[in-house]
Amino acid sequence: MDTDVLVVGCGPTGLMLANQLVRRGIRTLVIDRHAGPSLETRALGVQARTMEIYAQLDIVDRALALGKRGTGGNIWADGERRARVALSDAGDQVTPYPFILILGQDDNERIMGENLHAIGGSVEWNTELVDLAQQGDSVTAELKAADGSQRRISAAWVAGCDGARSTVREACGITFAGAPYEHVFFVADTEMTGSMVPDEVNVYLFRKGFHLLFPMRGKDHWRLVAILPPGLRDKPDLKFDEVIPVLHKDATENLHIKSCSWFSTYRIHHRGAVRFRDGRCFLLGDAAHIHSPVGAQGMNTGLQDAYNLGWKLALVVKHQAKTELIDSYEQERLPVAHALLNGTDRAFRLVVSGSWVAGLLRTKVLARIAAFAVNRKTVQRRAFRIVSQTGIRYRKSSLSKSLEQLPKSAPQAGDRFPWLRLKLSAGGPVEDMFQKACDLQFNLFLAGQSSAGDGLSEFGHLLRTWTIAKDPGNDRELERVQIPARSFYLVRPDGYVGLCGMSFDSASVKSYLLREMRLTVHHAAAATM
Ligand SMILES: Cc1cc2nc3c(=O)[nH]c(=O)nc-3n(C[C@H](O)[C@H](O)[C@H](O)COP(=O)(O)OP(=O)(O)OC[C@H]3O[C@@H](n4cnc5c(N)ncnc54)[C@H](O)[C@@H]3O)c2cc1C
Repeated sequence: MDTDVLVVGCGPTGLMLANQLVRRGIRTLVIDRHAGPSLETRALGVQARTMEIYAQLDIVDRALALGKRGTGGNIWADGERRARVALSDAGDQVTPYPFILILGQDDNERIMGENLHAIGGSVEWNTELVDLAQQGDSVTAELKAADGSQRRISAAWVAGCDGARSTVREACGITFAGAPYEHVFFVADTEMTGSMVPDEVNVYLFRKGFHLLFPMRGKDHWRLVAILPPGLRDKPDLKFDEVIPVLHKDATENLHIKSCSWFSTYRIHHRGAVRFRDGRCFLLGDAAHIHSPVGAQGMNTGLQDAYNLGWKLALVVKHQAKTELIDSYEQERLPVAHALLNGTDRAFRLVVSGSWVAGLLRTKVLARIAAFAVNRKTVQRRAFRIVSQTGIRYRKSSLSKSLEQLPKSAPQAGDRFPWLRLKLSAGGPVEDMFQKACDLQFNLFLAGQSSAGDGLSEFGHLLRTWTIAKDPGNDRELERVQIPARSFYLVRPDGYVGLCGMSFDSASVKSYLLREMRLTVHHAAAATM
């Protein structure tokens, strides 16, 4: 076997997967048909859940230093600001990152690429996957170099992170169901001034459409996203200058555009792969789902696909878990992609529809509803959880089990384990559990009960137990996130609750790890993940 995992495509999704595999010691070959990293900004919004993952990779400080924090969102209609959401208020108890980080896709790729090199991985550029064939226990991949020469390699697994026109998806014969929208979008990275609230996202709604303005690094730098007027849709070599008159006419007359450093148009599709796996091949990121950029979810969803698959694939490759564990990848991520496609499709149709009624709905009704809703704390919090992707959960997954019924308000099996700040010993310092609990292992949290002689040592470094010390501060913290005073939570490496219950019982935890998680004890004891 030439490699354990062949990662096809070195966009954000491929880079995240490669990082997750290489840091777990998996032989990984990463290829990309391009000559080097992409220099286009493309996706711009990094969501809180992605930053939590970046923290585990130890690259979040670099991302925060390079990016700009978007701390709020404003909705404008008919020249007036109708609503403002303070992201920091909505998310400050949910995540250490209660904002949207404005950081271009190129910078995200650079940071992940540098980290990949730092941990011993590399990328083979100018290498295109042209075909693949699956055998029982391996995949044969045909790779083409820039000079046209071809070579054949064998891999145990193939990850198709090769974007919307995925060769892996084609070779596996997986349908990419959906359609293009009639609209053509444009994106422009500009220097301009106007009524925009600095450092915040500004959405301008008007009868014929919308303008989305993201603050970028540097003074008066804004990313503008909008729909191209029908008259300009098919114009070849369109320049930003040709769009400016329409911009002034449609929406914000007080816009003063000084310069434009990048301009691109693109037609959006909404499509989802009907399966995310075919035997030994997987689809992730844009290869598996594409949708409108409303909500800045695309890149983030691909990164989470990779985070979901990475630890599972690593356990299987190292024979620390049986192959069946990976069935849960499609089981968990396909519904997330479908929900995202439906949600972004509905939102997109509402903001782009050209009908007279929709125009009225947008500027009058939608702006008013938004103004009403954002003043409600619960609505703000719910919206934050959806957009930040911290609310994604896998309750229906075969990996999600509860021993006893926990109160409805408590975190349940399949939920992202909440962000806790706890004293690990009585009288000790308060510690951030997102920093302490490493994602290279399972983390077992015991509240109101002891782990003495838990009988789980056979899982070696794969399992770490945290006994929450009896302390008034800890009690308040557990109450805040509605974790029952006497309960236990077994958290998967990717931060989701696998098993939970009221009374900790080591035999049940062991049985869960062997039966549901498919761990193989003798291998687990031998090594770290
Ligand atoms: C103009 C524009 C603006 C966007 N704005 C946003 C935004 O604001 N927010 C957001 O979340 N998303 C946005 N997106 C979407 C976002 O860019 C994608 O969701 C993201 O790039 C997906 O990452 P990926 O790694 O899955 O795929 P890609 O970034 O497409 O990477 C795929 C990689 O695979 C390589 N490849 C393809 N085929 C092969 C092959 N056969 N062999 C070897 N290599 C191959 C390609 O060269 C490429 O490097 C935007 C997209 C565009 C085009």
